[in-house]
Amino acid sequence: MRAFMLLITGLALAAAASAQEQDFSKVEVKATRVAGNVYLLEGAGGNIAASVGEDGIVLVDDEFAPLAPKIAAALKSLGITDKPVRYVINTHYHFDHTGGNAPFAGEGSTVIAHDNVRTRMASGGTAGNGGSVHMQTQPAEKAALPVITFDHDVSVHLNGEDIRALHFPAGHTDGDAVIYFPRANVVHMGDDYVRYGFPFIDVDAGGSAEGMIRACEAVIEKMPPDVKIIPGHGALSTVAEMREYVAMLKATSAAVSKALKAGQTLEQMKAAKLLAPWSKYSGDFITTDAFLETLYNAMTKSGHTPFVRHN
Ligand SMILES: [Zn+2]
Repeated sequence: MRAFMLLITGLALAAAASAQEQDFSKVEVKATRVAGNVYLLEGAGGNIAASVGEDGIVLVDDEFAPLAPKIAAALKSLGITDKPVRYVINTHYHFDHTGGNAPFAGEGSTVIAHDNVRTRMASGGTAGNGGSVHMQTQPAEKAALPVITFDHDVSVHLNGEDIRALHFPAGHTDGDAVIYFPRANVVHMGDDYVRYGFPFIDVDAGGSAEGMIRACEAVIEKMPPDVKIIPGHGALSTVAEMREYVAMLKATSAAVSKALKAGQTLEQMKAAKLLAPWSKYSGDFITTDAFLETLYNAMTKSGHTPFVRHN
């Protein structure tokens, strides 16, 4: 949920804007081979992974509805298969990752996602950091909803891959999945790992930095050290780069946790410029203050003690 947020900020719209208000006519969708038969597709919104092979195509996320024809054209231009997109797996409910669900479903694709993705898409609601970053999302049309949902994990066996969708709780949202292609040795992290600076954490949808850290660390521990990492947003990445991101999440969480235990208010932490040492991560979407607020809200609203230790 980045392009959308920039749009909101840019136009200073208060609420209820829809993705349709963004102009997608000039967006180009570029396909790059990552490894094996797994491709990265970049247009606008979240990164797409595609397994393209003899059995057809499996997509991970699908950006925005108006881009579906361009995504389909980019896949066809690879010249690998004329078979359709058989499955779309959503990494989470945000509509810069699920916007293409309805058009792809209309062409016969089956959409798969965690239980909470379907629930949140069906209901609509507030996405936000529990404070200054927030917006309303409308209930999705029925055609956009995942048809197959899972609680813990699910596998799709196509193109010689055992594609694994693994749920990690309370990270970017409460319905995140990391998608692993073991044969190609590629993983799509969803928005548990992004490269635009401080991450947006949807605290209003059950997200927390703690959960994002756990998801990233599980991938680092369990997957091969040379696994190619597709972040939710930004360029193809490596374990070393994701470690650096995890270190930032841990250090900033520890700083906020320590200040909380010392009885500081959010305003005092902002005044003390608590996260200044990590200001290189500040972006126009999530500023240093917005990220401080995010961590504070996730820790105070979840009602439990943050797990990050400090001295
Ligand atoms: Zn997102």
